[in-house]
Amino acid sequence: MRLKKVFLFSSICLGALVVFLFINTLRFQTRQLHFAPIKHVESTNSSIIRLSKAIQYQTISNQENKRIDTNEFYNFHTFLKHYFPFIDSALLLKKINRLSLLYEWKGSDPTLRPILLMAHQDVVPVEAITLSDWSHPPFQGAIKKGFIYGRGTLDVKSGITAQMEAIEYLIAHNYKPKRTIFLAYGHDEEVGGKQGALRIAEYLRLKKVQLKFVLDEGGSIIKGIVPGIRKPIAIIGVAEKGYLSLELTAKEKGGHSSMPPKESAIGILSSAIKNLENYVFPSRMSGVGSIMFDYISPEMNFGLRFAIANKWLFSSFIEQKLDMNNATRATLHTTMATTVFKAGEKENVLPTKAKAIINFRIMPGETISQVIERVKEIIDDPRIHIKTNGKFNYEPSIVSNPSSPTFRLMQKTAKQVFPDLIVAPYLVLGSTDSRHYKNLTKNIYRFVPFRLEPSDLNRIHGINERISIKTYKEGINFYIQLIRNSTK
Ligand SMILES: [Zn+2]
Repeated sequence: MRLKKVFLFSSICLGALVVFLFINTLRFQTRQLHFAPIKHVESTNSSIIRLSKAIQYQTISNQENKRIDTNEFYNFHTFLKHYFPFIDSALLLKKINRLSLLYEWKGSDPTLRPILLMAHQDVVPVEAITLSDWSHPPFQGAIKKGFIYGRGTLDVKSGITAQMEAIEYLIAHNYKPKRTIFLAYGHDEEVGGKQGALRIAEYLRLKKVQLKFVLDEGGSIIKGIVPGIRKPIAIIGVAEKGYLSLELTAKEKGGHSSMPPKESAIGILSSAIKNLENYVFPSRMSGVGSIMFDYISPEMNFGLRFAIANKWLFSSFIEQKLDMNNATRATLHTTMATTVFKAGEKENVLPTKAKAIINFRIMPGETISQVIERVKEIIDDPRIHIKTNGKFNYEPSIVSNPSSPTFRLMQKTAKQVFPDLIVAPYLVLGSTDSRHYKNLTKNIYRFVPFRLEPSDLNRIHGINERISIKTYKEGINFYIQLIRNSTK
């Protein structure tokens, strides 16, 4: 009798749980906004010629300022002046630190906070050894079979020219913005942005400018990388991870390898690294790392929707799945990668020193000093000397609110211009110049409105970087519409 009661009670509980899970799933509504698609402006082929020409300037950044070929940048500036004549006459141009550009299109209402669109002029170098693998020389700007080829076609001269095409079009069609628009193009993003974007942001801060939003590179329109989703997804970065490199050193006496001590410098350092690699930084399933799934999973089939709608119950199952892929795992944790290991010169000599560099990418919500503390605890070996390496370490960014009116404005614009896609906020794993603007606005978004195939991701900083003419022309429409939506 008693057993029967227990059985009945558990069945009722289980039934209630199932009902609750189903209700949760049904309440897990789409977060996609619906707007009528706009009619696209058909860009002329001269916009393609202008991008091709922009690619021909070898504006390669360099860690050492004096090794930059400044003439390439100056010539690029002259090109912009001549090929975008409406911008040249209607916008103010301020050169910052000689090579960075800040354009200002003054709005009629000075009480409105300006918007700022970003990109960067510099590109990464092309390794000489890979030159023969390019189907067209990287700085030729070849236009072939529907694509423009060359360094910067994706990262991110196409962002500069597409934004400028949009503004040329709007000026030519007599558009008068109420809200001021800034265009900010640094010259050293690929090496940290301290001479470019940081200085532009500093200039604006001194002028007491507060911005409505910043839109930089970061996400784009991708297809075929999320299982269960067939539509393209516009991923808009709302935060980016922090960056820290630590140098670990183990020192030993050295000597002849015929009379070795029990542990070598290499062994001591290796086991410290192994301990670190075995450690998994806490997962943040509830944080910004998984935010993308809140937006795309309502568009998935019932099974996946069921799991994500009930994340509180299935988080370890979902985490397991996400952990199987390097890219999705990186969105959930602070990651570490051993990138340099140096020790030993000769086969019969004990090295006196072994050195390694570990690169960490830190989740928003954690800090550099917390990571260093954790590393010390895990290694727990006084023979290992730990210090920060390099000048590029920075904290994770703030998280811009994906429920804010500004994010909705991005969503709206994307839906108007590309009605076929899903829009989702996400965590940027790399870094962008936008982090330098953190004192000027809470609303920092990272998105370039171009459609990328999964294989295009390897072309960024890689071989045969290219953009399709079709997506480039569509992208110009995104900027035209964004300016209309945000500055009327
Ligand atoms: Zn870039």
